Amino acid sequence: MPSVHEVSEPLAGLCRPVPAPGPGVCVVCRGCARPEFSTCYSCARVTAQVRRPCHRVVPLSLYAIPGGLHATLRGYKDGESGADRRRYAALVVSLLARFLFDHGDCLRSCRAGGWDFITTVPSTNRDGPHPLASALRLVPWLAAQHQETLVRGTAAMAHNVASDDGFVVRSGVRGARVLVVDDTFTTGARVQSAASALQLAGARVVAAVPIGRVVDPCCGEQAPFDFGRCCLEPRARRQEVS
Ligand SMILES: [Zn+2]
Ligand SMILES: [Zn+2]
Repeated sequence: MPSVHEVSEPLAGLCRPVPAPGPGVCVVCRGCARPEFSTCYSCARVTAQVRRPCHRVVPLSLYAIPGGLHATLRGYKDGESGADRRRYAALVVSLLARFLFDHGDCLRSCRAGGWDFITTVPSTNRDGPHPLASALRLVPWLAAQHQETLVRGTAAMAHNVASDDGFVVRSGVRGARVLVVDDTFTTGARVQSAASALQLAGARVVAAVPIGRVVDPCCGEQAPFDFGRCCLEPRARRQEVS
């Protein structure tokens, strides 16, 4: 079995670095913000619609549509054949596993010293387990940390429309430290609805980790992607390294 590092390595060319905080970078999701605002438009709207949003979103990569990472993140859900979907699923989960392995200490240093389990966000437009939840089974140490805690609730969610009632917590989470993982972050409506439901049920969401944060093609750093860096590391260190 190839390692997650071996499987994910060729994907570096599809990924784009996520910037550290600074002018033009949203303090919540690290997407692009207008220089006079601390958050992007979506985070300003969506985090105001739920009572307990997560203010620490740590994407692995930015990506534009269309593009190679977009094709990968679509392919594991909607690939033409089962073989295609499985091949893409291995790529997607290897990216997430590598990020959590390499930058777990960065995430743990933020708050609360770590997490008790990771949880996935159910789909809003398809039945059955979320493809990411299924893909996690390909990496046993990741699967061992995974708990499915959420099911769809009664409230509708859409682009820029989040709700405390979008998801229902189906298992005991009170007092638990939870890392929310997802494949994509567009406006954050699903992730923030999930984070709020978990926190209203008594959990603490340490961070939300989407694999890709969708941005306009011109947004963000145009530097090459480096698996060894994440957006939680101070900019000074990034410059020192480069
Ligand atoms: Zn944002
Ligand atoms: Zn890091």
